[in-house]
Amino acid sequence: MRYGKTKKIMVTGGAGFLGSHLCERLLAQGHEVLCVDNFFTGTRRNIVHMLDNSGFELLRHDITFPLYAEIDEIYNLACPASPVHYQFDPVQTTKTSVHGAINVLGLAKRTRAKVFQASTSEVYGDPEVHPQPEEYWGRVNPIGYRSCYDEGKRCAETLFFDYHRQHDVNIKVARIFNTYGPRMHPNDGRVVSNFVTQALKGDDITIYGDGLQTRSFCYVDDLIDGILALMETPREVTGPINLGNPDEHTMRGLAEQIIAMTGSASRIVSRPLPSDDPRQRQPDITKAKQLLGWTPTITLRDGLARTIDYFDRFLKDDAASTKL
Ligand code: NAD
Ligand code: UDP
Ligand code: UDP
Repeated sequence: MRYGKTKKIMVTGGAGFLGSHLCERLLAQGHEVLCVDNFFTGTRRNIVHMLDNSGFELLRHDITFPLYAEIDEIYNLACPASPVHYQFDPVQTTKTSVHGAINVLGLAKRTRAKVFQASTSEVYGDPEVHPQPEEYWGRVNPIGYRSCYDEGKRCAETLFFDYHRQHDVNIKVARIFNTYGPRMHPNDGRVVSNFVTQALKGDDITIYGDGLQTRSFCYVDDLIDGILALMETPREVTGPINLGNPDEHTMRGLAEQIIAMTGSASRIVSRPLPSDDPRQRQPDITKAKQLLGWTPTITLRDGLARTIDYFDRFLKDDAASTKL
């Protein structure tokens, strides 16, 4: 319920990487935050500093099951995002995207809450169109190892647009491109967390395939700005809207930059390329610029410096706590 400018906002997946940053920002704006998470990939460590805040409430809950609360807005971020984690229990991944979407949309329909969906560049699959605009329908394998995530997220988008057309639910859908920063899970297998922790430990840096595949990396603070700006748009702006940084890099280039920035003695080694690994990815953010007045501002070098600093402290804390 709404008192003055304070809103009661539910963040599913609030104990995860992006969700914890979003909860922080919403609290800083003076809102009440209900963080809903089943702790599959999220951790208490990500949210422990918010537990004492009187505006923050934590609910351990799996969104594949119905949930009832009185709220003004929902940010639906619950879903493992790294290939290692979403392929660990692929059936649960599809359930989280699809049953989870049905439940948050049912909740939004009943409470008239505005609802944000964290969709993904994976809806474009391994794209033949480069960079990817929102109009591109994608090239996705429906039966591969990545399908539980890609098709789950595509079906969630379908549900968002059908609840919007059929039940007039106020929706905001963002297609998020690769985002990195502090609080990424150190073992989630994503490329930035892998390369940074490998470099800091002096382990081999594992490049999958020839390392010439590309990704475009957005720093977490920029992404949260984009999400918040999308949520503030007029009702007719539903998305989908690409949110990401168009600055595109090869995985080999990324590895070399991280080695140089950490001063690491790590060697680069090759590992097999996972199946259906997209060859290239870069967001076309024309729409986000026009509709949100948003553009990412943090360079890869600055974002990596902050991320390296985070993992350096994280690994030292971990080493200290295992010695106790
Ligand atoms: P993450 O794994 O750190 O966070 C996901 C959170 O959701 C975790 O806290 C996890 O415990 C929780 N969760 C998973 N299944 C749940 C369930 N059934 N019920 C309740 N909670 C559940 O990942 P992230 O990088 O923070 O991603 C957040 C969202 O953004 C995801 O929906 C992801 O698909 C999307 N996204 C992220 C990126 C990226 O680069 N980080 C890119 C595109 C889309
Ligand atoms: N739902 C929920 N919280 C609510 C309202 C609905 O979790 O506050 C769930 C409910 O379990 C239902 C789903 O959302 O299965 C979809 O709701 P909808 O009203 O669209 O469907 P219906 O209840 O008519 O099947
Ligand atoms: N990758 C890599 N080494 C790693 C982890 C990932 O070369 O240790 C590659 C991976 O094959 C992909 C890219 O880096 O081409 C991005 O992988 P990530 O899992 O971070 O994201 P996604 O593939 O979902 O975009």
